[in-house]
Amino acid sequence: MLFWSVRKIDLTGKRFGRLTVVREADRGIWWCRCKCSKDTEVRGCYLRRGSTQSCGCLRRDPLTFQGIERSISEWAAFTGIRRETIYSRLRAGWSIEDVLKRPVAPQLVAKKDDAVADHMELRS
Ligand SMILES: [Zn+2]
Repeated sequence: MLFWSVRKIDLTGKRFGRLTVVREADRGIWWCRCKCSKDTEVRGCYLRRGSTQSCGCLRRDPLTFQGIERSISEWAAFTGIRRETIYSRLRAGWSIEDVLKRPVAPQLVAKKDDAVADHMELRS
């Protein structure tokens, strides 16, 4: 029971966000190939915890959707979806379309005033 944690976990070939593990570079350090084709070395615990999901490009890259290029913050403001939600969807490997168009749970969506007004009119 005390020894389960020393069991070696082989991450080779596993995918974490944009990263695919190529091989173990050093004890507990994994050589990963990012989707953007950069190589990076990441600690296995960061991969498994989900705190490292790309070579760093995930937070830098603008997102292009329907020909419009905006930063993630701009998309967040534009869609009303929180930045954290956008990040976590990207990390989960969602397509850009799903990331930006799939609604969040209704109570979490910041509605525009006029949309709320419409809704109330319909109900009365
Ligand atoms: Zn990258």
